[in-house]
Amino acid sequence: MHRSQDRLPEHKQSHALGSSLTTYRGRFAPSPSGPLHFGSLVAALASYLDAKANQGQWLVRMEDIDTPRVISGAADAILTTLDSYGLHWDGEVVYQSQRHNLYQDILASLIGKQHVYACTCTRKQIKARGGSYDNHCRVANHQFDSNALRLKQNYPIFEFQDDLQGQVHIPKDIACEDYIVKRRDGLFAYQLVVVVDDHQQGITHVVRGADLLEPTARQLSLFKQLNYTAPHFMHVPLAVATAGFKLSKQNHAPAIDNNKPLPALVAALKFLGFNLSHVHFDNVGTLLEWAVSQYHISLLPNNKEIQVIQQDSEHYEFTPL
Ligand code: GLU
Ligand code: ZN
Repeated sequence: MHRSQDRLPEHKQSHALGSSLTTYRGRFAPSPSGPLHFGSLVAALASYLDAKANQGQWLVRMEDIDTPRVISGAADAILTTLDSYGLHWDGEVVYQSQRHNLYQDILASLIGKQHVYACTCTRKQIKARGGSYDNHCRVANHQFDSNALRLKQNYPIFEFQDDLQGQVHIPKDIACEDYIVKRRDGLFAYQLVVVVDDHQQGITHVVRGADLLEPTARQLSLFKQLNYTAPHFMHVPLAVATAGFKLSKQNHAPAIDNNKPLPALVAALKFLGFNLSHVHFDNVGTLLEWAVSQYHISLLPNNKEIQVIQQDSEHYEFTPL
């Protein structure tokens, strides 16, 4: 049954007023390049809470398309961790590595409409010409084989509305760049597959870290180009080790502990603006239930980054940047 959102009590309304609750579909889309750390927990939790507070579905998609970056065993480890943190997903996990035919079909349709061209420019050449790609090869007619393929930017997005960050302005060179849809090494590019997947999975709300704010403009232009309805986008602050550097393996962000989910989950809720000073929970199930009942977009901080200082798997401190 479809219920109109505006008949719900205030605290249960989604950030997307007007959408029908029963059709909310959110997702968490980790890249299995390592185990989950605190930063990815924040992204998973934010998308989970937004979905569940809106009686939505919450899907998990493994973004294992970039095979050189995939670490064997990481996808299973991520799913085990989500489970032990009580973040249970709806439906089957989708693996991008199993969807090459789908991506190839969409790419072929773009090629058929002559929206795609081959580019032979090296990173060094692009840098020498000013840094961002100047659509140099658009008219060059290079052969497609063993070259990167770029999409002609016919729908540049110069600004868009983020449900948390507000109006986002995109620099002209980024908005107008013909970006890569298939890499020289033959792999489909993230920008292509993320849009194809979000559309194909019927995603209505994308909630993720603010490192993906600018790429959103490209995704929105591809939604237009493919004549798909775009989902709502909401970008929560990115957990960083120092300004500009997200928590990652490179800066030694530790994996979160499967055996002690509560401290990290409590810390992730605090990061997202929850006040836990008068509550105490001894299992993840009741903690998450409480969090879903308390969730509202007005709790969420709208910074682009928050610095995380972690002493060990139980102690986290944050400083807004
Ligand atoms: N796989 C991407 C990442 O882990 C996230 C993509 C997305 O949420 O759209 O950074
Ligand atoms: Zn080129």
